[in-house]
Amino acid sequence: MKKELQLRLSPKEASDNIIIKKYVSEKLDIPSSELTALQIVKRSIDARRYPVKVQLHLEVYINEQAPNPKKYKLEYNDISGKDEVIVVGAGPGGLFAALRLIELGIKPIILERGKNVSGRKRDLALLNRNQALNEESNYAFGEGGAGAFSDGKLYTRSTKRGDFRKVVEVFHFHGAQDDILIDTHPHIGSDRLPSVIKNMRESILKAGGKVLFETRVDDLIIENNTVKGVITSNGEKIEAKAVILATGHSARDVYEFLNSAGISIEAKSWAMGVRVEHPQDLIDEIQYHSADGRGEYLPAASYSLSTQIDGRGAYSFCMCPGGIIVPAMTDENEMVVNGMSPSGRNTPFANSGIVVEVKPEDFEKYSDKGPLAGLEYQKELERLAFVNGGSGFTAPAQRLADFVDGRLSFDLPECSYVPGTISSPLHFWLPDDIGLRLRKAFELFDRKMRGFVTNEAMVLGVESRTSSPIRIPRDKETFQHVQINGLFPCGEGAGYAGGIASSAIDGERSAEKVTLWLKG
Ligand SMILES: Cc1cc2nc3c(=O)[nH]c(=O)nc-3n(C[C@H](O)[C@H](O)[C@H](O)COP(=O)(O)OP(=O)(O)OC[C@H]3O[C@@H](n4cnc5c(N)ncnc54)[C@H](O)[C@@H]3O)c2cc1C
Repeated sequence: MKKELQLRLSPKEASDNIIIKKYVSEKLDIPSSELTALQIVKRSIDARRYPVKVQLHLEVYINEQAPNPKKYKLEYNDISGKDEVIVVGAGPGGLFAALRLIELGIKPIILERGKNVSGRKRDLALLNRNQALNEESNYAFGEGGAGAFSDGKLYTRSTKRGDFRKVVEVFHFHGAQDDILIDTHPHIGSDRLPSVIKNMRESILKAGGKVLFETRVDDLIIENNTVKGVITSNGEKIEAKAVILATGHSARDVYEFLNSAGISIEAKSWAMGVRVEHPQDLIDEIQYHSADGRGEYLPAASYSLSTQIDGRGAYSFCMCPGGIIVPAMTDENEMVVNGMSPSGRNTPFANSGIVVEVKPEDFEKYSDKGPLAGLEYQKELERLAFVNGGSGFTAPAQRLADFVDGRLSFDLPECSYVPGTISSPLHFWLPDDIGLRLRKAFELFDRKMRGFVTNEAMVLGVESRTSSPIRIPRDKETFQHVQINGLFPCGEGAGYAGGIASSAIDGERSAEKVTLWLKG
């Protein structure tokens, strides 16, 4: 017999299976010897008030074995010799598209401008330690895409668009930890993601798919409004039945070559701002309502904040508890920050993007650039941050209370950002549309989380790559580009996803649409 029940336990109790079993036995009034299996289906933390509780949703099996908790049986069968589809980009969008194509009996050829995850790790070390940027292998470009060295948070608001559970199970199948199957806010961690991504590549290769690194796509081959293949940076022409374009939002050259070829792209809203970093202990204290912080059994606390300022959304973005801030630029002469956390979320710092919506009216001065106007505004902000950081990859930074009060910081607190920080008046040089709104937003956030605005925290500039400033328009039903047959814009760079999980979902769905199209 199977029974379902909810338990609300202290963090210590929830960490102990014997205690969980004892509570289940009492609650169901069944001797624990008859409880053959307990499965935690969902686990969440209720930190709305003190004391913090852990909420467990359990399936209990009485005198019978538990079934396999997995919904999917993942199999990647041999597809060598089958129809070929080019997938440009090996981020979550491209990788999930390739794996789904294999499931559907199609051979993916992945073309990736950057290096594989191991080569990429070395380039990231050079960037952090020596401020030496490889423009083709960095935090945005390379195997695993922008998600490879991240917190690996796997939640999405777009579950209506596809199957989130499948995404989680594919990550788990490729080596991600069991917890992601049950946590309400699953995350994998920057230390584990590279091996998971490598395993995904191995599934693709083992099934007969192809993966070419350091192969940038510089143009599309188009005949009679139908894509026939691509031209790579080595001048090679690769032909295929269809092209999935999953190049992410940092591939500005892709938007540029599409625009020059008269292939329609559109400006869209996105968000820019700063990254804020607090001592993790302070965030634990605020969120868990206790001067003792998180104690032994609770994870590093996170937060999610949002408000409206002068008609625009202002919100926290990609919060990384126990994480570090990283340099996420793709070109010399620009400064971009982002955040990541290891699986244990165990650094002494908590960081998050705090951003405000940017709309086309904010970058009217670049209207002569047509759909690329937003990109110009994004570049302007990144160059401004670069110059104010001393024209290297040192980040311009300001203590948070000083930023809100409009005061230059005399000195700066310790920070996780390895290339270093330099005191700079961000309140002064950020465009008012962004800077003034951010300062007002921080004041409101301090009312929601007392103690949030403090000079123990600091802001670093700039968080500019939250999502794409451009959409590559596609048909709602077929997912094909509105002008070009056989071209399937996919993921975050196409403007149809934001984050790892939604890009992965979009990759899967794009693969399904390609298959339908190929079957005519
Ligand atoms: C540091 C950091 C931390 C993040 N943390 C999280 C998180 O915890 N959770 C979350 O949901 N999201 C996070 N994100 C965002 C997330 O990584 C992206 O939303 C997601 O990776 C987008 O997936 P994608 O496949 O659409 O594009 P991308 O991941 O950007 O992948 C695009 C790929 O295409 C390749 N490419 C680009 N142009 C070409 C070309 N011309 N030819 C060949 N290849 C090309 C790139 O090298 C790249 O590998 C983070 C991002 C960063 C930078």
